[in-house]
Amino acid sequence: MTQTYRITLLPGDGIGPEIMSVTVDVLKELGRQENLSFEFQEALIGGAAIDATGSPLPEETLQTCRGSDSVLLAAIGGYKWDTLPRSQRPETGLLGLRAGLGLFANLRPAKVLPQLVDASSLKREVVEGVDIMVVRELTGGIYFGQPRGIFETEAGEQRGVNTMVYTPAEIDRIGKIAFETAQKRRGQLCSVDKSNVLEVSQLWRDRITALSADYPNIELSHMYVDNAAMQLVRWPKQFDTIVTGNLFGDILSDEAAMLTGSIGMLPSASLGADGPGVYEPVHGSAPDIAGQDKANPLAQVLSAAMMLRYDLDQPAAADRLEQAVLTVLDQGYRTGDIMAEGMTAVGCKGMGEVLLKALS
Ligand code: NAD
Repeated sequence: MTQTYRITLLPGDGIGPEIMSVTVDVLKELGRQENLSFEFQEALIGGAAIDATGSPLPEETLQTCRGSDSVLLAAIGGYKWDTLPRSQRPETGLLGLRAGLGLFANLRPAKVLPQLVDASSLKREVVEGVDIMVVRELTGGIYFGQPRGIFETEAGEQRGVNTMVYTPAEIDRIGKIAFETAQKRRGQLCSVDKSNVLEVSQLWRDRITALSADYPNIELSHMYVDNAAMQLVRWPKQFDTIVTGNLFGDILSDEAAMLTGSIGMLPSASLGADGPGVYEPVHGSAPDIAGQDKANPLAQVLSAAMMLRYDLDQPAAADRLEQAVLTVLDQGYRTGDIMAEGMTAVGCKGMGEVLLKALS
């Protein structure tokens, strides 16, 4: 029987519609081969939504997302909306989407593809074969903890205050996602904290350790964040899945991503407790190349592969899509951002066409 999935598409701004169009064509072809059917519904977000409705996240968009199995987002933002007040900016739409869908886990893979190993700024022998997943807590920790602000003491001196706070429930829910993610990968989980200095990290370590009893097949280790930052550039191949809090994850996920050296290739996922996740490239809307058929659609296509793996539980289809990406790279096709000597230059649409051929 054909399985049908309802997918909300949020093309957004800049190169968004171009990379989304390629991804939809690729998903349709994949669906034919894997006996999956996708019902796509498009909704507005970001600058496109501001122009049409005055709001960066119309209520209708949120409702459409809530009623779907998964959400594919391209990118939002552009020069045109940069001068608007914060509440009306495209980015506010993105934050509203995360809050509205309760997305507390951010999954950022950093995989060095053999064909692009020389795009990294690190030595080939250090990065060859790197395949890391950073699971970052997204809605707690020091970015949200109270009290926060710039206060004045009785002596009239200013004090800047932020509070790093995690409750056991917050740690457990991100921990579960991390253990389950490691289960879908190579079965190793490294929890990163600063428990030698921070009590909040001690609680983090205690809860993650307690959770590991439910996942006896996962090899759990702990690492202090300063050491993790160092080990990521010293010998990144030691990591499989990393789980960490909001602040440490913000920094480490960017550091891990840069091991790969190519922003047009990096997908991400944001997940909640239940309901649809949001799958999007790490890059922005690239207004400098929008509408010129120059964008690399592969980060968006790989985001769709993550959607198949994590939201739709279709690992065979995800594998097939990722394999098609490797095939076109093996065949030497490159968009401008990953172009190298001796390779064949293609635009966004051209990359879509060779991907379709690779799939069929
Ligand atoms: P950006 O990622 O859009 O672009 C940085 C550079 O990388 C540019 O030179 C761009 O041409 C290139 N690039 C990015 N994606 C590419 C792709 N797929 N193919 C080829 N080249 C690509 O970052 P920016 O320039 O700092 O931001 C531009 C706009 O995007 C801003 O309005 C920003 O707020 C927004 N933004 C949105 C998101 C998001 O939607 N999640 C993330 C970051 C930035």
